[in-house]
Amino acid sequence: MDETQLRLDGNAAAGTLRELFVHDVSAARGQCAACGTIAQMGSQHLYMSPLSPGAVLRCASCQEVLLVVVYARGRYRLGMQGLVWLEMLDTGEAVGGLEATR
Ligand SMILES: [Zn+2]
Repeated sequence: MDETQLRLDGNAAAGTLRELFVHDVSAARGQCAACGTIAQMGSQHLYMSPLSPGAVLRCASCQEVLLVVVYARGRYRLGMQGLVWLEMLDTGEAVGGLEATR
């Protein structure tokens, strides 16, 4: 079996991603790509103003940008350029996804 037999197009990930983004991200843990610190997103530093189209979350340890979220013209844009990974606790709210395939 070669890798093309295991590959699907990105639409196949829609269900898993939809379940992932219903979780409380402030309780999620992430690792800073700059300093390696692992912390809950809710403990990081948020920069935003009431009139801005988005927000910037910075690492509380080194102040590097962890993620940026912007809402404009009916679209959300999420950049997670400063995170190595983001881990969300499965609260049992999601049904299916990766667990359903195992
Ligand atoms: Zn950091």
